[in-house]
Amino acid sequence: MIASRFLCWLSAVPLMAAVSSWSLPAAQTEPLPNILLIVADDLGYGELGCQGNPEVPTPHIDSLATNGVRFTDGYVTAPVCTPSRAGLITGRYQQRFGHELNAIGKQNLAENVGLPLSQKTLADYLKAAGYATGIIGKWHLGGTSKFHPQKRGFDEFFGFLHEGHFYTPPPYRGVYSRFRPTEPPYDADNPLLRGAEPVEEPDYLTTAFTREAAAFIDRHKHKPFFLYLPYNAVHSPMQAPVKEVERFKNIAGPHRAIFAGMLKALDDGVGAVLAKLRKNSLEDRTLIFFLSDNGGPTAELTSSNLPLSGGKGQLREGGIREPFLVQWKGHLPAGKVYRQPVISLDIAATVLAAAGIENPTQSELDGVNLLPFLTGEVTHPPHANLFWRYGAQAAMRRGDWKLLRRGNGSWQLFNLANDLEEKNDLSTHEPALVKSLAAAWDDWNRQLVPPLWGK
Ligand code: CA
Repeated sequence: MIASRFLCWLSAVPLMAAVSSWSLPAAQTEPLPNILLIVADDLGYGELGCQGNPEVPTPHIDSLATNGVRFTDGYVTAPVCTPSRAGLITGRYQQRFGHELNAIGKQNLAENVGLPLSQKTLADYLKAAGYATGIIGKWHLGGTSKFHPQKRGFDEFFGFLHEGHFYTPPPYRGVYSRFRPTEPPYDADNPLLRGAEPVEEPDYLTTAFTREAAAFIDRHKHKPFFLYLPYNAVHSPMQAPVKEVERFKNIAGPHRAIFAGMLKALDDGVGAVLAKLRKNSLEDRTLIFFLSDNGGPTAELTSSNLPLSGGKGQLREGGIREPFLVQWKGHLPAGKVYRQPVISLDIAATVLAAAGIENPTQSELDGVNLLPFLTGEVTHPPHANLFWRYGAQAAMRRGDWKLLRRGNGSWQLFNLANDLEEKNDLSTHEPALVKSLAAAWDDWNRQLVPPLWGK
């Protein structure tokens, strides 16, 4: 792993130099860019128009691909919510600090369950650089007071602290609902908060988060801001406004129609936030990322990962490869499709470079500044290797090769260039390659600590 981190550094070093000349940092004449980081929850790889979904139009999210870059091989660091968000917001493999497994139900209120206080967030870095910082949506990085987002670099918080939340409270007026009989009462210990104060929310939750995001932009349009907008859509519980579901009468099955309504509301929300930036003439000054935190749990939500196999909770491609888009008008190319593997860890490194923050702890980040790769200044792949560990599951990617261990068994080997569904295990045909890749994974694994919670 030392070798691989060194390679990441080789990627990053020329990049920092390049960025300071072509982009904006520190002693720049342009203002610092705003940062908008939009996260969808449990949205599968195949569920946007630009990702091939033929059923549910998502023109607003798709516009980020039209006006920016769509990653075909954009990964997250875990196939479930909280570890994926820990990697995203710190820019570090979350297994380095024990934030490896998910937290469910009452576990979210345990004293030790949350993003370790030893770790800095992207908001910490940006706040120190003078940014206004806000999170609107789902935190899921600790449900107790010491982990509250306003203690983790965010000036403002509107949302809920963990797991899931009803989109409309009982008796669910104005929405179509579908719950599993075992659906937990998400809201009982997980109120909607403004700061630390519980609030009553009359709007459908996706609409409410959109309203708050637009207001945040209005409040901070005259200074650099970082808005982290982790919608809980399209996570369960499945609820969608009646008017949205009615649009999808052509879709077979009420289950899928409700999902479509939830996704449509999310797309409308993203559209309203983008319109707010446009209205304030902030598009050229705002670096926007959109991604999902993990793959779709297809049986539960219908959220599709096609053409990938597997889904939420798995290190097969469908669990960790996501819809992943970036837009920065005037700075990044429009309509570009980028096919080299990238990972959510790259977002923090990219944002810090774009903001000209010369982070003295940069060496602790695992991501790479993607800007020169996207402009074409650098043509080699951003990463020599990518790694995953989620309990007993393990995986790595090098080029087109994917090494996968689904439990405590032996390694499997797939060539994703011609086997995207990971059906054809080549491990017995390529034993030397398996040995080499497994050795690299072992090097990385030795740097990690055991999970702080979970099994
Ligand atoms: Ca999730």
